[in-house]
Amino acid sequence: MVKDNPKQQLVANRETLERIFHRPENDQSRVVLTKYMEQILFGLHDFLREHVGITEEISLRLLASRFTSSDIARSPVKKLADVISEIIEEIAPHAVNVSSPYFVGHMTSAIPFFMVHLSTIVAALNQNPVKLETSKVVSVYERQVLAKVHRLLFGLDQEFYDTNVQKPESTLGSFVEDGTLANLTALWVARNRLFSPSSGHAGVEQEGLAAAMEARGIRRVRVLVSELCHYSIRKAAGVLGLGSQAVVPIPVDHSNRMDVQALRRVVEEMRRDTGTAVLAVIGIAGTTETGAVDPLHAIADLCREHRIHFHVDAAWGGPVLLSQRYAGLLEGIQRADSVTIDGHKQFYLPMSCGMVFFKDPEAMDAVAYHAAYINRPGSVDLGIRSLAGSRSATSLVLGSALDIMGSGGYALLIDHGIETARAFAEEIRRRPMFELVTAPELNILTYRIAPGQWRASSDIDEDKSLDMLNRINIRLQRLQREAGNSFVSRTTLRRFGQPDTVVLRAVIMNPRTTPEILRSILAEQENIYLERIAPSLPRP
Ligand SMILES: *Cc1c(COP(=O)(O)O)cnc(C)c1O
Repeated sequence: MVKDNPKQQLVANRETLERIFHRPENDQSRVVLTKYMEQILFGLHDFLREHVGITEEISLRLLASRFTSSDIARSPVKKLADVISEIIEEIAPHAVNVSSPYFVGHMTSAIPFFMVHLSTIVAALNQNPVKLETSKVVSVYERQVLAKVHRLLFGLDQEFYDTNVQKPESTLGSFVEDGTLANLTALWVARNRLFSPSSGHAGVEQEGLAAAMEARGIRRVRVLVSELCHYSIRKAAGVLGLGSQAVVPIPVDHSNRMDVQALRRVVEEMRRDTGTAVLAVIGIAGTTETGAVDPLHAIADLCREHRIHFHVDAAWGGPVLLSQRYAGLLEGIQRADSVTIDGHKQFYLPMSCGMVFFKDPEAMDAVAYHAAYINRPGSVDLGIRSLAGSRSATSLVLGSALDIMGSGGYALLIDHGIETARAFAEEIRRRPMFELVTAPELNILTYRIAPGQWRASSDIDEDKSLDMLNRINIRLQRLQREAGNSFVSRTTLRRFGQPDTVVLRAVIMNPRTTPEILRSILAEQENIYLERIAPSLPRP
C-alpha cells in the first residue's frame, strides 16, 4: 500500500550504529539531543507535578493486554524521540505517581530534582566498581562515601577513619542492590565468622553448612529478630542454607519493640543446648510496618554478654541519625557489629541503593573471593568483598547528594516527616470515626477506620467487631486506591497474643505532604465509608 506521506523506514545499519556511539558531531544534533534531555527533565517532571492524583483509573488487565507481543523486531521500530514521548504520554500516566504529596503509603516517594542529573552522570560515565580497571577514582571515591556513612553510624574516632578510609585491606561497608541484599550480606558474613576455618575444616564458605555444623557438633543454627522483621531476613536465612525457619521471631512489647526479656529467655535457653548456635540477633531501627525502633542498647548488652553477632536493620531509620533533634531515637546503633541502610529510602536516592556496614574493617574478609582475571589478592578491587559483581557507581549519587544537601538539609526532611506524622496521629485521635493503632515513633503510623457501631461493646463481641473492622478497612483501602486521588497502604499486624488486625499505614516522607493534605485524606476515607461501604453493611 502506498501512502501519500510514507513514514520513513527505520533501518539498522553500520552508519546509524556509528552515530549512536558518537557524541553529537554537529550543532544541529546537539540541539536535538539537548531538547530530548529537556523533555525528560521537564516533560516528566511537569507531568508528575501537575498530576496530583496517584494513577489513572484503568484495569491492570487492560494494561496487560497492550503488552503481550514477545518478539523482538528485526528492524528498529522507534526513534529516541518517539520512545521518550511514548513513555511520557503512555507509560507515566499509568505508572504510579509516587512523588505526589497524597501518596503516603509506601517507603518510595518523591526525590529531589537533582537526583535525575546525578543518575544521568552515573549512566554517562558507566563505571563498574567491581574492579579498579573499570572505575579507578570511583573506587576510592566510593570508599570515602562508605566511610562517611560508617562514621555517621558508628562514630569511631578520627584516627580510625584516617587509617581505614583508603587502606586496601580494610572494608568499612559495601554497596549492594537493596536492603534485602544488605541483610543477606550481613548474615553471610556472620555465618562465615561463626563457622570459620578450623583445624581439619576449611570453613562453611568452602565446605558448606552441613560439614561446618558437623565439624562443630551443631544441629541447629538460629537467627533471632523481632516478630515485626522484614521478610528479607527469612529470605537470607533461606539463601544461606539455614532455612527460613531458622529465624526465630521474638515477641514485641506494647510499643512494637522487641521484648528484651523474652529475647534473654530464648538466648539463655539456646545457650544451655550445646547443639544450638545463635548466628545473630537483629535489632530493627524502624520496622517496615510501624516504624518502631528496638531497644538497641539492651540488645547490644545481651549480644556482648553471649558473644553473638549484633546486626541492626536500619534500612528505613538509619538516616534519622542526620537529624540533631531525633538522632537519639537510634541510640545504641553504634554498638552494632553490622548495619543495613537503604539509600533509596530516607537518603531520597532513586532506585536502588542498599548498603551494609561493618564496625570491624576486617569482617568482610570472611566473604572475600579472588578471581584470577580480575581481583588479585592485595588489590583494592571492590569486587573482592562484595555480593555483587558488576554494579553501578551509586556512590557518586549518594556522595553528591550528601554534598548538595548537607546533614542539615537531610535533617529538615527527617524532622518534617517525624513531626508531620505526629500531627497526623493527633488528628486521627481527634476524629471519632478513626482509631490510631500504632503511634509514630519515627514517621510511620498505622490506624483504622472504626465507626462506633462496629467497635466492641455490650452489643457486639470482640471477635465479631474485629472481623467486621478488618473487612471494612480492606475495602476502604482498595476503594481509595482505585479512585486514584490519594494512597495509604494496608497491612495486617500479626503479633503474639494479639488478634490479627488490618490497619491502614501512612509513611510520611514527602516534604510537600502537609497536615492539610493528611486531613483531606481522612475526609476522603470518611466519605468512602459513609457513601460506599456503610450502606451495604448488615446492622450490627
Ligand atoms: C525496606 C526494608 C528492607 C528491605 O529493603 P529493600 O531495599 O526493599 O530490599 C529491610 N528491612 C527494613 C526494616 C526495611 O524497611
